[in-house]
Amino acid sequence: MSDNFLAALFNGIDARRDELVDLTRRLIRFPTINPPGDAYLPCAEFIGARLKARGFEIDYVRAEGTPGDNDRYPRINVIARRAGAGAGPCVHFNSHLDVVQSGGGWSVDPFAGIVRDGKVFGRGACDMKGGLAASIIAVEALIDSGTDLPGALEISGTVDEESGGYGGVHYLAERGWFSAPKVHHVIIPEPLNVDRVCIGHRGVWWAEIETHGRIAHGSMPFLGDCAVRHMHAVVERFERELYPKLAARRTDMPVVPSGARSSTLNINSIHGGQAEQREGYPAPCVPDSCRMIIDRRLLIEETLDGVKAEVVALLEDLVRSRPGFRYDIRDIFEVIPTMTDRDGPVASTTAAAIRRVIGREPQFICSPGTYDQKHIDRVGKLKDCIAYGPGILDLAHQPDEYVGIDDMVTSAKVMALSAWSLLHADA
Ligand SMILES: [Zn+2]
Repeated sequence: MSDNFLAALFNGIDARRDELVDLTRRLIRFPTINPPGDAYLPCAEFIGARLKARGFEIDYVRAEGTPGDNDRYPRINVIARRAGAGAGPCVHFNSHLDVVQSGGGWSVDPFAGIVRDGKVFGRGACDMKGGLAASIIAVEALIDSGTDLPGALEISGTVDEESGGYGGVHYLAERGWFSAPKVHHVIIPEPLNVDRVCIGHRGVWWAEIETHGRIAHGSMPFLGDCAVRHMHAVVERFERELYPKLAARRTDMPVVPSGARSSTLNINSIHGGQAEQREGYPAPCVPDSCRMIIDRRLLIEETLDGVKAEVVALLEDLVRSRPGFRYDIRDIFEVIPTMTDRDGPVASTTAAAIRRVIGREPQFICSPGTYDQKHIDRVGKLKDCIAYGPGILDLAHQPDEYVGIDDMVTSAKVMALSAWSLLHADA
């Protein structure tokens, strides 16, 4: 690729700065809140119409029968494909359309797409409509550069990422939309900062532990058996044995922030005993049940089976050592950790593009939480996938969420150059 071509490509993106801002604002104005999954259809159709006008073939795929799908809130995904001039590989940009609730504490309307101080504000601005807009502008600029593209370009807007991705990337991956020979390289423009390449994420295990007791009158607790005290024994064992063990377990995954380079366990909630009666008047009983939800995040060096066995062993030990201790444990949700090779095509090409565009050494990172890469890896069997996009992850799901306009322009250049290089590398 000549320096002239590169300069023209980047100038083309600079010239689209206002268009990029406008596109981001329009996307924010679709209140694609999940749950329940509002405005998915008009948002998907808006993207489809735009890319159709640019010569893309458009598919709308409704994930029928997936959680939350119904005629009022259809799970609609849009996939746009532009075939290449040759039989080269396909580079796919995947963004989720859904956003979380706006919540309180905003100083601007979360769905107006307000522009101020070089930033676009709104729910989903960084997570991840800014990234989606940047990828669309990147691809359009690449097409307009007039160069022959030997492979295909795809852009998808998928739903339900914030609730596990079952009506979005998971559904599509099961049907071959994220597998060779259709797709070869995937970039997910999640907000990980313009100079960082995210190569994977930790895993998750959510489970509910219930301890059982025996109900009795609160004035004579010795006639019952308190499930809350049994749960206390569980928490006490967590404190004494499990937490120190988890904190000592370190990963080779480059997770940021570095506190997440250990195994972690959050106790999400504990509910014990009978519900209070009217106006908070206490239930006069010994609790016969106590439930705790745990959120265990696991490292690539760990297995789900091993992580579960560790907790079960601790509970079984309580069965043996604590009179009356009985429990149940129930899986709620699980995701195994995933990490692609930093020397693989998409990671190394994007890193090279960052060096070229920003002039800084890129950082390879992993995310503490999960995103749709898990489905592309596990279900689509496509390893060559990263997350790369504008915005600051810490702002995601916060009030006054924003994305920086300079960052969007910069990341669009990196995406355009990465796509060009990937299309030509395998040709
Ligand atoms: Zn996201």
